[in-house]
Amino acid sequence: MSTNTLDPLDLFDIQSELSDDEAMVKDTVARFVDDRVIPLMREAFEKHEFPRHLIGEVAELGLLGSSIDGYDCAGMNSVSYGLICQELERGDSGLRSFVSVQSSLVMYPIHAYGSDEQKDRWLPAMARGEAIGCFGLTEPHGGSDPGNMKTHAKRDGDDWILNGSKMWITNATIADAAVVWAKTDEGIKGFIVEKDMPGYAAQEIENKFSLRASVTGALFFDNVRVPKENLLPGVSSLKGPLSCLTQARYGITWGVIGAAQACLDEVLRYTQDRVLFGQPIANTQTIQIRMADMARRITTAQLLSLRLGRLKDAGKMRPTQVSLAKWNNCRAALDIARDARDILGGSGISAEYVPNRHMLNLESVITYEGTETIHQLVVGKELTGANAFG
Ligand SMILES: Cc1cc2nc3c(=O)[nH]c(=O)nc-3n(C[C@H](O)[C@H](O)[C@H](O)COP(=O)(O)OP(=O)(O)OC[C@H]3O[C@@H](n4cnc5c(N)ncnc54)[C@H](O)[C@@H]3O)c2cc1C
Repeated sequence: MSTNTLDPLDLFDIQSELSDDEAMVKDTVARFVDDRVIPLMREAFEKHEFPRHLIGEVAELGLLGSSIDGYDCAGMNSVSYGLICQELERGDSGLRSFVSVQSSLVMYPIHAYGSDEQKDRWLPAMARGEAIGCFGLTEPHGGSDPGNMKTHAKRDGDDWILNGSKMWITNATIADAAVVWAKTDEGIKGFIVEKDMPGYAAQEIENKFSLRASVTGALFFDNVRVPKENLLPGVSSLKGPLSCLTQARYGITWGVIGAAQACLDEVLRYTQDRVLFGQPIANTQTIQIRMADMARRITTAQLLSLRLGRLKDAGKMRPTQVSLAKWNNCRAALDIARDARDILGGSGISAEYVPNRHMLNLESVITYEGTETIHQLVVGKELTGANAFG
C-alpha cells in the first residue's frame, strides 16, 4: 500500500493499532485462509460437508482455545482471538463457527467451571483437535428463552440421570464431548456428556441452506447416567451458559467483519470489469455510494470490535457492549452481503462468487448466539432499567 492510498478493507488503518504479536496472528491466519480454506470452501458448501481434515491444521496454528493459558493452549489475548475469527470467517462462517464453539463454548466453560481432572483430561486434547466438543443449550421449543429449558438432571447416588433434548447444536455429530446445560433441583448445571454414554444420541440436521460447511444437529438424552466427575462443579445458574455466550458473541463481532470484507473485496473487483452503458459500473454514482456504504459499515464494525477487544483484555468488557456490537456487526455484514449479491447481478447467484454464500451463512450468524431482537432488548434494558423481554 503506497502512503497515499488507503486500504479499502481497512480505511481507518486498524492494522496500525495492532501489536506486533496481534499483527503476526492476523497475517498467519490470513495466509492459512487464503491458501488452505478459500480454495475448498465453495465445494464444501455445495456438498454440505464440514472440511474436517482442516481441524489438525487449525490446531497446529494454535487457534483452538487460543485465549487459555496453559493446557497446551496458545494463551493469546482477546484481540488476537478476534482477529482469528475475522480471518477464518473471511473464508467461511462454518469454519469460524467450529473454532468459536470449540474455544468459547466448550473449552472456556471447562476452564472456567471445570475440575482440575476435567481440565487435564479435555483441554490439551481439545487444543490439539484430538477431541471435539459441542455446546448444548438451545432446545426445540425456543432458544431465546434458555431459562425455560426442559432438559433436566436428577441425582441418583453419586451419578446424575439426564433427560431431554437440544436443537441446532454446532458440531453435534462429530463431538466427543457435549457440554450440556440442564435444570436440576440445585439450579442450572453443566455436564460433560461423552459420546459413548448409553442413552445419548446425536442426529445431523440435513438440507440446511445456511452454514452448509458446518455440522449442525440435535442431541437426545434418554436416562443418560452421568457420573459426578462429569458435572462442572463451578457454576449452578444461567450465568454459566450466558458467560460462555458472551465469549463466543465477542468473537462473532469480529468474525462477521471478515465475511463483509470478502464481499466488498469481490464487488470492488467485479465493478471495475463490468462495463455497462459504455463504462465500468464502478464509475457510476449509485454503485460508488453503495460500496462507500459498505466501507462505512465495515469501518464502524472494526472500530467497535477493536474497542471491545481492548476492554476485554483490560477485564472491563460488559455483556451489553457485546450485544450492541453483535447486533451492529451482524446486521452490517448481512446487509453488505445482500447488497454485494445484488451488485453482481445474475452472477451473484453463482457459486463462483462469494457474497451469496456469505449471505446465506450470515442468516444463521445473525440468529444464533442471541437473535438481533434479543440483543436490541438487552441494550434497551441497559438504557431503561426495564426488562421488555416478556
Ligand atoms: C446454524 C446454527 C447453529 C447453532 N448452534 C448452536 C449451538 O452450538 N448450541 C446451542 O445451544 N444453540 C445453537 N444454535 C441455536 C441458536 O442459538 C438459536 O437458534 C437462537 O438462540 C434462536 O432460538 P430459536 O431458533 O429457538 O428462535 P426463537 O427463540 O423461537 O425466536 C423466534 C423469533 O422470536 C424473536 N423473539 C424472541 N424473543 C422475543 C421477544 N421477547 N420479543 C420479540 N421477539 C422475540 C426472535 O428474535 C426470533 O426472531 C444454533 C442455531 C443455528 C441456526
